[in-house]
Amino acid sequence: MSKKWVYRFTELDQVEEYVGGSWDDVRGLLGGKGANLAEMVRIGVPVPDGFVITTEACNEYLSLGEKLPEGLWEELTTSLNEIEAATGKTFGDPKNPLLLSCRSGAKFSMPGMMDTVLNIGMNDATVAGLIERTGDPRVAYDLYRRLIQMFGSVVMHIPDEKFEEVITRTRKQAGVKTDTELTAEHWMAVTEEFKNIFRFHTHHHFPTEPYAQLQMATEAVFMSWNGKRAVDYRNAAGIPHDLGTAVAIVTMVYGNLGDDSGTGVALTRSGTTGERRIEGDYLTNAQGEDVVAGIRKTKDLSELKKEMPEVHAEFERVAMSLENHYREMQDVEFTIEKGKLWMLQTRDGKRTSQAAVRIAVDMVEEGIITKEEALMRVTPEMLDFFFHPQFDPQSIKKAIQDNKLLAKGLNVSPGAAVGIVALDADLAEIWGKEDGKKVIMVRPETRPDDVHGMLAAQGIVTSRGGRTSHAALVARQFGTPAVVGVDDMDIDLTRRQITVGDMVIKEGECISVDGTTGQIFLGEITTKEPDIKDEWLLKLLSWSDEFRTLGVWANSDYPVDASRAREYGAEGIGLCRTEHMFMESERLPFVQKMILAEMDVQRSEAIKSLLPYQREDFAGLFRVMDGLPVVIRLIDPPLHEFLPDHVSLVRELSDLKIQLQHAPNLDAIDDLLKQVRTKEKVLSRVEVLREDNPMLGLRGVRLGIHFPELPQMQVRAIFEAACLVTREGVDVRPEVMIPLTSHVNELKIQRESLEKVARQVMEEMGVKIAYKFGTMIEIPRAALTADKLAEYAEFFSFGTNDLTQTTYGISRDDAESGFLIEYMVHGILPDNPFETIDAEGVGELMRIAVEKGRATNPNIKLGICGEHGGEAKSIALCHKLGLNYVSCSPYRVPLARLAAARAAIVAGH
Ligand code: ADP
Ligand code: MG
Ligand code: MG
Repeated sequence: MSKKWVYRFTELDQVEEYVGGSWDDVRGLLGGKGANLAEMVRIGVPVPDGFVITTEACNEYLSLGEKLPEGLWEELTTSLNEIEAATGKTFGDPKNPLLLSCRSGAKFSMPGMMDTVLNIGMNDATVAGLIERTGDPRVAYDLYRRLIQMFGSVVMHIPDEKFEEVITRTRKQAGVKTDTELTAEHWMAVTEEFKNIFRFHTHHHFPTEPYAQLQMATEAVFMSWNGKRAVDYRNAAGIPHDLGTAVAIVTMVYGNLGDDSGTGVALTRSGTTGERRIEGDYLTNAQGEDVVAGIRKTKDLSELKKEMPEVHAEFERVAMSLENHYREMQDVEFTIEKGKLWMLQTRDGKRTSQAAVRIAVDMVEEGIITKEEALMRVTPEMLDFFFHPQFDPQSIKKAIQDNKLLAKGLNVSPGAAVGIVALDADLAEIWGKEDGKKVIMVRPETRPDDVHGMLAAQGIVTSRGGRTSHAALVARQFGTPAVVGVDDMDIDLTRRQITVGDMVIKEGECISVDGTTGQIFLGEITTKEPDIKDEWLLKLLSWSDEFRTLGVWANSDYPVDASRAREYGAEGIGLCRTEHMFMESERLPFVQKMILAEMDVQRSEAIKSLLPYQREDFAGLFRVMDGLPVVIRLIDPPLHEFLPDHVSLVRELSDLKIQLQHAPNLDAIDDLLKQVRTKEKVLSRVEVLREDNPMLGLRGVRLGIHFPELPQMQVRAIFEAACLVTREGVDVRPEVMIPLTSHVNELKIQRESLEKVARQVMEEMGVKIAYKFGTMIEIPRAALTADKLAEYAEFFSFGTNDLTQTTYGISRDDAESGFLIEYMVHGILPDNPFETIDAEGVGELMRIAVEKGRATNPNIKLGICGEHGGEAKSIALCHKLGLNYVSCSPYRVPLARLAAARAAIVAGH
């Protein structure tokens, strides 16, 4: 049986039968736009009649080498005839013409697809017929000139400016400000000029035959699937190239028939904050894209309530019924024709992260969706927004007092951004990407080919456009702060400057943009750390905790980090790195002394002087983490990291020696000689300790075995602190972690020597502490022999940074600044393994370690403390592997809670 290429909106049942019922497949065949139009018809929403040419037709057309599939045009004509019969109008009939729009629509909405052409069917004959019928030549010529303009620019690629120039000139000559003030004669003259422009640029007459217009438009939609922009976008977004686009052909309804007509767009909830309030813009006496094009200043939807109360009420009812039907915030397009409402599109609305969280939570409380659905709708990346900086209110106050508030516009994408003004996308990209500057892209309005600049900018400002303008939508999608519709701002693209009143800002000057309030300031406003006490976010996170089975701990070295981690919901410290504690300025001299000591006594003394510092560090952490586990990793890095760098030592020594030659007197010589000797001593130690491959050298447990006094001191400090703090009434749960183990004997020796110290301290202090000893798994050998290690460990913690380095045999720093990028560009590696755990390799080692470790010790606690612990895909892997917890940076704890819940929901437990 041959395929059916065309479906009427009323034939959704047939489509479902053909694709097998799943809505995803319906969208696949009819495209998102077409599928939703048909669905709206089914649920009784007023939609103008129409039909969809399927994505299969598009694919067939392209594979035939740009030829219409057999039977398509016959099917199309049949559908069109049915619509003609239903509407009483006929396509191309001069007396009562039917006009159509031709709209592209793939399964996923994507840039680069052909724009819509309205009013197909207009020509010299139908324009005359329309005038006769309606008695309104103004409307008739407005429709006609729009068709030539859209067909010319969209289908034939004539630059739209050519057409707009004519309109601007006509307005000027007529002495009017807006298009609506132009008369029938004006539009008639414009239409004639448009035909000439068309002929000049295409060397053809404007096609007057309606079916020819329709066919050319349809084929142009098909071809746009393989346009460069569309292909690039699909590559970037990972959308398959074989989906094809559908074409929706829709009977025209007219928003330009006078003041009881209009057109608009709306969101069923606020796309900025998520508040439950319909938000939209409209224009009376306008058609199609006029609203989003930013040509005229749009009215807020609340005006419609005054202008046309009944239409407004019906619109609200329809919009809410769509939201209820799709159980999701909707972005709708509508037209009012002589007081009658028509819906032209509905789709899930774009929103800020803040709005996404609020809408998901509200919808659960309104009984529309389940908690699981809410958790699945908010991606972990969205939570990032809550950790973006905001402007410091004090700094804003001061700026306002200093008259630095430049202007105010619509706050369409929240967050704070500071940067230098760039007046076009290419410059924004050059400054932002290549020069690494912070830029704010400022434009009259934005278009799809500005996106590269928007991506490189910290913030976006446009002088025109509303909440649903291109700039607003893109900014929200990328989480870039943006303010649009800044009427007071005049952008002069030739003199490269902005003027607001009598203030002039040159391109390259610094401004601050507050996407949360819509304010724009001259100069730099200070930003501050955000707080995450958003009511809706807290609720969503508490639901995450109901569903997740993975624990979420944090990596913190200091009490302040630990208390932030706890505030964000961490259930333990999974990694406290002790080497940071050695680097602080007052301690470093002791550390260096310890390393440089030639005799054991000297070394022991130096180590002893570090003990009180360490004890205090640990006591602070234990107090903050009262009742929760704290994993402390014993010293790990190679010792050279604590010593001065070899090259500078050599240079300093040679400087000293030169000074020595020119020394003025004996005292100076003595003094310099002393300095030379100390430096020489340090240098010789540095040379002894120098390793070709320090990251694979004397570090981790190897260092602990080599200098046992060092970890012994640390364990003494841990247990003295634990005992002291226990006496204060704090519930202390220290877990001592031995790093970089590769052979069980290392762990055995180290643990025995350290546990002895622990027991001794507890005995001295007469306090019993519930403690654990464990090891990091960061060498493949450790993972492979986990059954043996588990005999001497109560816990394992996967150090996935090092485990990735040792598994791949590559050094992260060298790789990420070099060949790894190349690997990813060429698709040799799908993800950066230092960002997302390499499931096949590193993940497999983890799986083996989990299995073998639990075989020996079923109660062993398993966690991960590499940076991967805060990345959603890796968290899902940890869930799958059955770890007990992930540990990540305090800021990522909320994200990890959500990611862990989503992993549990996806896995079905
Ligand atoms: P986009 O994907 O760019 O929004 P659309 O196909 O939705 O493109 O159409 C562009 C504009 O034209 C929208 O404002 C839409 O509402 C309007 N439009 C499309 N078809 C019709 C029609 N049959 N009658 C009136 N307006 C239409
Ligand atoms: Mg468009
Ligand atoms: Mg649309």
